Order: sequence, then C-alpha cells, then structure tokens
Amino acid sequence: MQVHLLGTAQDGGVPHPGCDCRRCGAARTDPALARMASCLAVQAAEGAPAVLLDCTPDFPRQSALLKARTGSAVPAAILLTHAHLGHYLGLAFLGREALSAKALPVHCTDAMGAFLQANKPFRHLLDRGEIVLKEAGLEMPGLKATSFQVPHRNEDADTVGWRLESGGRRVLFIPDFDAYTPRMMEEIAAADLAFLDGTFWADGELKGRDQKSLGHPPVKEAMEILKDHAAKVRFLHLNHSNPLLEDGPERAELRALGFGLAAEGETVRIQRP
Ligand SMILES: [Zn+2]
Ligand SMILES: [Zn+2]
Ligand SMILES: [Zn+2]
Repeated sequence: MQVHLLGTAQDGGVPHPGCDCRRCGAARTDPALARMASCLAVQAAEGAPAVLLDCTPDFPRQSALLKARTGSAVPAAILLTHAHLGHYLGLAFLGREALSAKALPVHCTDAMGAFLQANKPFRHLLDRGEIVLKEAGLEMPGLKATSFQVPHRNEDADTVGWRLESGGRRVLFIPDFDAYTPRMMEEIAAADLAFLDGTFWADGELKGRDQKSLGHPPVKEAMEILKDHAAKVRFLHLNHSNPLLEDGPERAELRALGFGLAAEGETVRIQRP
C-alpha cells in the first residue's frame, strides 16, 4: 500500500484567510511555507487505482499532485469524513465548470449524503451524474476501506474516520475529532500507521477564542494518550496557529517522544508484513 500526502493543514490552510500572524505572512511571500487542507490518496500498490480521502478547496492543486504521483488527476473513488469546508467543498470542481467527472463514486455516510443532496452546488453534480453517492465503505482489488463514527461538531451531518486495509496492513485517517474514544483507541492499536488530528499544539493557542468549544485534543495532551503507539502516529490537519509548522522546540519534543508529522507531498510506502 502507498499513501500520498496531498495536504496536511486544517480546513483554512496556511496562510489562513484574513490572518496577519507572522507565520501566515511568511507563507504569503514564500509558497514553500504554504500548506493545503488535509487530504490523502491511497493505492494498493504502484499503478493501482487511487482513492482520495476528503476533497478539499485545494482540489485543483491537489489533483495536479495526484496526477504527478499516480498518473491520473481523477481518483477512482472519493471517501469523505464530514461536512466541514476543508473536507468536501472540493467536490464542486468535479462539475462541468471544471473537471466534468463521469459517475465518480463518492463514499460517505447517509447523513453526509443527505447533506450533499440538500445543497444545490452538490445536488447538481448528483443530478448530472458527475458524482454518484455510495455507502460509507469500499472494496476494490487489493484495497478495503471501512468507516467508523468519531465525535465532532456535527452541525450538518456526522463525522467518520477511515481505515484502509491492503496486503494485511492498516492505515487510519481521522483528521477531525473532539476526543479519543475507546473505539478509536482500538483502531489505533490495530493500525500500522495512523494520520490523526493535530490541529492545535496546546491549549490557549487561539488568542481570543474559546478553543475548548472547538474540540481537537491538543497534540501535547494527545501524546500522553497515545504514548504506547507513538511510532505509528503522524499528526496532520495542523492549524495556522500550530508551532509544529516550524522547525522549533515543539517539533523536537514531538520527535523525542517518537511521534511523527505528516509531510505535504510525501509518499509513504507500507510493505506487506
Ligand atoms: Zn477540518
Ligand atoms: Zn495565521
Ligand atoms: Zn471538522
């Protein structure tokens, strides 16, 4: 199995719209510091069809990266986690104004499907057959994907994490959640690699906002919860406020404890056991 990291940031990306912090300012002048919204592409093996996990507002650039990595700008299927802007808005680019997809399977929960049906930009894609809604699970030769519910602010639908299985190996993608649950801990224990919510480094990171109401266990606390699984964890979905975006003492602390960070553009190959 191989995993291509097409994006590693929180929904709003880096630089964050409207933010004049030092980090966002630097990312506006140096594209190498910019980060796209969290998105993975997974293949059972090199040359196999690619499955896209989440479809972000950065889809135009991410589909170019997908083509560079897999040979096709269009994935074989899309798996969605939830109805927050960084995770599904990119579907709009599959319509006739842009990519004009043909019956591209979009796998999501019933609640997420109902949300897409109820909102015209996405309803049009369904009515024109550019995308087709499928159940929240997928099986194709050499690759199986299974979803499970995770707690998150569910204003419009629900939220899932995804488990990808291929050749006896398991990869998890859970970019957004409010707390670690026993089910999630079981999934993490059984996984070979886990891409997990690393939105914030620590409490109090968002000046002037009630960070607790936003969920997202801070990485500093998560590392204690996950200490037995450090080697398989790679944090992603980093907010522009997260100091892990820079090579500083926080990254050194994370690495010293054995944890990893997802790197945009990277391809991770997971060998058969
Ligand atoms: Zn998000
Ligand atoms: Zn900022
Ligand atoms: Zn979210």
